[in-house]
Amino acid sequence: MTPRLLTYVEMNTSDRAIAAYLGLAIGDALGATVEFMTPREIVAKYGVHDKLIGGGWLHLKPGQVTDDTTMSLALGTSILKAGKVDAHAAAQAFDDWMRGKPVDIGNTVRRNLLQFRKTGNPEAPYSDHDAGNGAAMRVLPVALATFGQSEDDVRAACRAQAHTTHHCALSDAACECLVLMVQDALRGASKNDLLHKHAHPLALQHPLFKFRAIKPAANPSGYIADTMPAVFQSFFDTDDLHDCLIDVVNRGGDADTTGAIAGMMAGALYGTESIPNDWLKELDADTRTLCEMQAQALLG
Ligand code: MN
Ligand code: MN
Repeated sequence: MTPRLLTYVEMNTSDRAIAAYLGLAIGDALGATVEFMTPREIVAKYGVHDKLIGGGWLHLKPGQVTDDTTMSLALGTSILKAGKVDAHAAAQAFDDWMRGKPVDIGNTVRRNLLQFRKTGNPEAPYSDHDAGNGAAMRVLPVALATFGQSEDDVRAACRAQAHTTHHCALSDAACECLVLMVQDALRGASKNDLLHKHAHPLALQHPLFKFRAIKPAANPSGYIADTMPAVFQSFFDTDDLHDCLIDVVNRGGDADTTGAIAGMMAGALYGTESIPNDWLKELDADTRTLCEMQAQALLG
């Protein structure tokens, strides 16, 4: 095949896609060290936590990632194999991932994948209680694979992916918002565009996601309505990927997941140039390679 010259826009998009995937993995690895700690406990132990040193309640190796990244990679592999976002292929990939004894797994994910194993139905039953952040933390492969498709198709793919484990209106709203935001960032939208086109409308439609005129979100739980305000505050109130990730993981709580989601958005917005070299070097090498390869393959 003759190599084709990339246009400036394509190059930019692919760089942003790679940065989004690396940002997700780095945010996950950085946050996992302080997952379930309070901001006060983090200050006492680390001052400001800013290195990929592993440890945490999962006793990770330095640079090791958790379910946020490994479920994203499993989903991405299923999309590449199926040639599209396919609910059954995604559920099967997640079930295979679960059989591989991952370092961590959410309760809602486990329960609904066990149900899938029994019934073969890739769509979990609807429940307003399944409003954890477990579907939102792994949306990136959908954003990349459906880049350029109609908004209706993008939203449908978001739901097919999410409903394998989280079939819940609040989770859907967050997942769809995140995917559309990442796609606009890949197109070169500004932070201000993302704020006014996506984040504010989401908070208007679902006041639980309000992130302005509230206290700084500290110690966010795995509830999606805790996750999103923390991520939005860190993302919109900082000016680069480094500061965004430091800000969000030092809030503690579900820090690997807020780190993963914030890292994905910051990577898409600021590109690979914004990723500190130390973090790139500290990130698990195999994970780094997989993220870089998948980002390009999914974008097509
Ligand atoms: Mn995790
Ligand atoms: Mn987590």
